[in-house]
Amino acid sequence: MFENNKMKILFVSAEVSPYAKTGGLADVAGSLPPALAGLGADVRVVMPRYRQIDAKMEYLTDFPVRVGTKIETCIIRETKMNDNVPVYFVDNYNYFDRDGIYCYFDDARRYAFFCFAVLEMLPKLGFKPDIIHCNDWHTGPVCMLLKENYKNIDFYKDVASIFTIHNLKYQGNFPKEVFNLFNLSGHLFTPETSEFYGMFSFMKCGLVFSDKINTVSRVYAEEIQTPNYGEGMDGILKNRSQDLSGILNGLGYELFDPEKDPHIYFNYSKDTIHKKYENKKSLQKEMGLPQSDVPLLGVVSRLSGQKGLDLIMDKFKDMMEQDIQFVLLGTGDPYYENGFNELKKVYPDKLGLHIGFNAGLAQKIYAGCDMFLMPSRFEPCGLGQMISLRYGTVPVVRATGGLAETITDYNMNPVKGNGFSFAEFSADMLLDAVNRAVIMYRSKPAEWKKLVGKSMLQDFSWKKSAQSYMELYNLITG
Ligand code: ADP
Repeated sequence: MFENNKMKILFVSAEVSPYAKTGGLADVAGSLPPALAGLGADVRVVMPRYRQIDAKMEYLTDFPVRVGTKIETCIIRETKMNDNVPVYFVDNYNYFDRDGIYCYFDDARRYAFFCFAVLEMLPKLGFKPDIIHCNDWHTGPVCMLLKENYKNIDFYKDVASIFTIHNLKYQGNFPKEVFNLFNLSGHLFTPETSEFYGMFSFMKCGLVFSDKINTVSRVYAEEIQTPNYGEGMDGILKNRSQDLSGILNGLGYELFDPEKDPHIYFNYSKDTIHKKYENKKSLQKEMGLPQSDVPLLGVVSRLSGQKGLDLIMDKFKDMMEQDIQFVLLGTGDPYYENGFNELKKVYPDKLGLHIGFNAGLAQKIYAGCDMFLMPSRFEPCGLGQMISLRYGTVPVVRATGGLAETITDYNMNPVKGNGFSFAEFSADMLLDAVNRAVIMYRSKPAEWKKLVGKSMLQDFSWKKSAQSYMELYNLITG
């Protein structure tokens, strides 16, 4: 069936941990491929080579790539992830040798180049995957180009594609002229294909032209077929519901391990949980808060409307009346950055604030806090709540998407409960859930400790989910 009986997968992502990360996509791209390799797949990863990437890499080849009317040079370099998964870096100095990752004026052109480069690269490397696994909007046109252009080439005639939605909100919609970059016939820019309300949509190319679509939780797979969560794409997703499934993300358990994590102050396990409280004291010190045993709540997040931070800001005063402390690490929308900076002025001894992206501090927060807040408006999967469970930090979440799938409210179900959750997206409901958690922390310390211990034993590793991906790949390749 497969050469050497190995399923061959090319995993395409704009960010991959540990090389470049802005959010959960990188975590998945950095941990699912090694898990698939562990199940016997020949899996390789490809991503752009941004300036910040300092991994040791080897030059493999270079070749010209045509984007629109311009011919550009593409250089391919390689490194190995976990010593066994090849990672190909697509390099072009004009496009990727920049300080940041996204949000440049020419992002459409940068990722169009990346998509072409991926498909041009494979025959040159002699790697013919059974499946090209594309992730999020940056990679959508790979599915379109494969089906409408490259399938005519013998090398590609049996190659299938999967498109994974990590976040439907970010669609890569650009002015219609961007379609011309792909040198395709005009019938591929219609409302049935790549056009989205007069714009060219990278995301829609993935949704329309992939052989299968999946997203990162079962609940989100259902939600995005409704107008409330569909971001305008619910019609097309409903049309393709036979091809759409949800597979919960796993967590890289080797990477996120309180027993070995080099970033935290003191390593610990369920059996040495007292050291978690040493982490709390050190975190309080680092964040400029008094070292006391009041409940410590944490947030590590992109500061965007998705994450429900307005609910926290709304009820911050009420929460502080409970005599609790709060630490927040995040960066993003200036509205939230300014909002929390203002709150810091009012509550200097209660709010520890770090505006920025800091992977090490994030781990310290997961380890040092008692509770972790994710009151998301929507959440495709969410990794923060899983990392928290692994570090014995009790999640307080809004029950949506992956949060609904992973967190059971303790008050509603004390047997299965592993956190606190609320259904309605409202500040009152958030405050109620926080209060329930804080009251239990204060009044029932033994029960709290049991809850913490139980959370730490849950298994949200890739074990089950990587297997589900293998089943999905098998379904496509027959
Ligand atoms: P999303 O992908 O929507 O940002 P997830 O919960 O799926 O949300 O994943 C977020 C990941 O990014 C987690 O690993 C989280 O710890 C990390 N993260 C988010 N913001 C920051 C930050 N400011 N500094 C460090 N890590 C961050």
